[in-house]
Amino acid sequence: MNILYVCTEIYPLLKTGGLADVGAALPVALRSAGCQVRMLLPAFASIAAGVCADGPPLALPDVGGPDVLRTLAQAPMLVPGHVIASGQPVYLIDAPALYLREGGPYQDAAGQEWRDNAARFALLGWAAAALGYGADPQWQPDLVHAHDWHAALAPLYLKLLAGDRPAKPSVFTIHNLAYQGLFAASSCTELGLPASLFKVDALEYHGLLSFMKAALQFADAITTVSPRYAREITTAEQGCGLDGVLRQRQERLSGILNGVDYELWNPSTDALIKAHFDVGRMSGKARAKRALQRLLGLEERADALLFVAVSRLSEQKGLHLLPPVLPELIERGGQLVILGNGDAAIEAALRAALLGHPGQAALQIGYDEALAHRIIAAADVILVPSRFEPCGLTQLYGLRYGALPLVHAVGGLADTVTDCSLEAIDDGSASGFVFHEFSSDALRGAMRRAFALRRRPAEWAAVQRHAMQQRFDWQAPAQAYRALYQRLLTIPA
Ligand code: ADP
Repeated sequence: MNILYVCTEIYPLLKTGGLADVGAALPVALRSAGCQVRMLLPAFASIAAGVCADGPPLALPDVGGPDVLRTLAQAPMLVPGHVIASGQPVYLIDAPALYLREGGPYQDAAGQEWRDNAARFALLGWAAAALGYGADPQWQPDLVHAHDWHAALAPLYLKLLAGDRPAKPSVFTIHNLAYQGLFAASSCTELGLPASLFKVDALEYHGLLSFMKAALQFADAITTVSPRYAREITTAEQGCGLDGVLRQRQERLSGILNGVDYELWNPSTDALIKAHFDVGRMSGKARAKRALQRLLGLEERADALLFVAVSRLSEQKGLHLLPPVLPELIERGGQLVILGNGDAAIEAALRAALLGHPGQAALQIGYDEALAHRIIAAADVILVPSRFEPCGLTQLYGLRYGALPLVHAVGGLADTVTDCSLEAIDDGSASGFVFHEFSSDALRGAMRRAFALRRRPAEWAAVQRHAMQQRFDWQAPAQAYRALYQRLLTIPA
């Protein structure tokens, strides 16, 4: 089974969030499950630098696609190659006019969306369809698997470019419904999309062109990254305005929980931490905590309950719930470390709150993979108070590193963390602290439960042991995706 995996990020070459971790791990797991997977990625500078070409560039053939798009991209080429570090086969879309520029993959250095994002990411979907219909004479996918709004036009172009042939089937995975790729209606012409599709039951979303909606309407199957989020997004509360479409397509929608790459996230071998540890030999964790306290100028107290967060600073992540809780957290002898980057207003609010607690609280602004590992290794509790969370990876990393997750009961967080209720402690299923109402008060209650458990060292150790022994590896999700591909390839839609 040949699968074309279409996305924009792959760890460690380009990462802005969990999409990159999935892009690095899922294709590998799918290969182990018996699929032949090639990835299609834009040739952003950092991605191109980590890929070795395996042959001459391929011209995008005339598959009836939008000429305007090709003019904008100035003759894009497809470069077959492989990721140097992992050997993963890829095609890069070489279109310097669209992808080679200073700044981020989606935004400029000032944080503004690139003005030509419609064309930049339509090209990704269009190139996927071109590969689907023979752009590489050596290799053709049986099925195209597109990820998030950037790749969301792939299912539509596959239908539009099929001509007399049967359309290649597609799967679309929502990693975050909040980012939808909305553009002016006029982009439709530029992208070669028939005006007849600009209507409410196709591509139109409140007068705009929605890439995400295109995928929800035209993909043969829709998945998202946890079973609970798959249910939540069909409700008005969590559907980001697309719950109606998702309800209509509910029989095509399923949730497959993300996994963790335990080669990278393993406290007994992690190359990014110095003090290693695991169940049964936890002294390294105490050393990791002392080292972090020293690094960040915190009081070196072994008994301080260390709360951490490693997160994008965006409204979604709920870190604004923390400041009202902070004085009590410190008063009870806790410490707080936050590593994050993103929204300047959230950064300023956190900075103001933490400033009053020198030696007990530290804010690190920036994106720092090594520091993220060191913080999670050192932590007693990892905070993930997201308003909504499709899957969430940091709580899974926390579990493996004995940092008990303190989470809001939504999406993948609810699917992966069991609250330390008395009965859950009693039956051995407890793994963290879960709060239900999205408020500082509810978070405070969960924080108090963390302190209460800490005063019972034997119970804390038992919960921590259980957390560390849980496994969310990629094998089961890869099997679930493979089964889905098989269903689509053998059962006519
Ligand atoms: P999202 O994709 O919504 O940002 P996830 O929890 O799915 O959230 O994935 C976030 C990924 O990004 C994790 O691997 C996490 O460790 C990493 N991460 C987030 N913020 C930072 C940061 N400031 N520095 C280093 N890694 C970060």
